[in-house]
Amino acid sequence: AKSRSRNRYQFYIATIDTEIRQRKRLEMDLHKALENHELSLAFQPQFNYQKGKLVGIEALLRWKHPEKGLISPDMFIPMAEHSLDIIPIGDWVLENAFQQLHRWHLAGYEDLRMAVNLSAVQLQDQNIVDHIAYLLDKYQIPPKTMELEVTETSIIEDIETSKIQLTKIKDIGVTLALDDFGTGYSSLSYLKQFPFDKIKIDKSFVEGLPENNENCVIVEAIVQIGKSFGLKVLAEGVETAEQESYLVAKGCQEGQGYYYGKPLPAQDF
Ligand code: C2E
Ligand code: CA
Ligand code: CA
Ligand code: CA
Repeated sequence: AKSRSRNRYQFYIATIDTEIRQRKRLEMDLHKALENHELSLAFQPQFNYQKGKLVGIEALLRWKHPEKGLISPDMFIPMAEHSLDIIPIGDWVLENAFQQLHRWHLAGYEDLRMAVNLSAVQLQDQNIVDHIAYLLDKYQIPPKTMELEVTETSIIEDIETSKIQLTKIKDIGVTLALDDFGTGYSSLSYLKQFPFDKIKIDKSFVEGLPENNENCVIVEAIVQIGKSFGLKVLAEGVETAEQESYLVAKGCQEGQGYYYGKPLPAQDF
């Protein structure tokens, strides 16, 4: 029995070793993804219930690995944050999102808003505020049509710096959304201290509405929190008409999800 468990132990070590090596390999591939033109943006619509129309678009990063195909951002973004490649990659995302918004504004959708995800590392970057101001000017973007999304988890990394940076971004007129709301902790204290315009209800809470009672209670509570703090509330992961009806009935202002459209390349929009 002893030698069997020993074999098993060695097997685990070998497995972990391979995993580490594969991860390292992927991290090296990611480092070259930008110059190899393997990155692209997909755009997903955000629907306003009161206006009854599409009002915004979220830019979502895609990585097409030459051998492995599409790799989920939930997998490679943390890698890029760890290696700090998220700085050049994040700059590339911002540049392309601003450029695309400029094109849509020129095409007659003057009020269209673009939402871009900002990682914790980018938020701590001392150059980020100037860089955003530079891009607004370069692409002639009215600041209120640009929205940056940050998560609670990324704010927590350095609360003081985040507060200063987000306040500066807000001061140039860009709007701010708190992403994945409800999945972090002590959210309410942050809402008061930070200049957010919007909270995004995480899709895990939208799932199973209206049958899932717990999620109903959570969603209703988040909408009330939004009202109390004077924040817009957007629900993520809306996939069905039933979910939409529930959200509208509870007073949620905006929705995003496959029900309105999957993330698509700009030309397919
Ligand atoms: P997120 O910001 O919460 O984005 C929403 C995710 O939900 C996206 O996954 C989107 O494709 C997916 N989604 C949208 N509608 C539905 C729906 O109706 N049902 C379901 N099941 N899923 C839906 P995606 O594109 O895989 O991105 C995952 C995460 O990666 C994002 O979560 C965000 O945290 C991060 N991410 C993506 N692009 C960027 C980026 O440019 N920069 C940074 N820092 N993070 C990014
Ligand atoms: Ca987001
Ligand atoms: Ca989210
Ligand atoms: Ca998420």
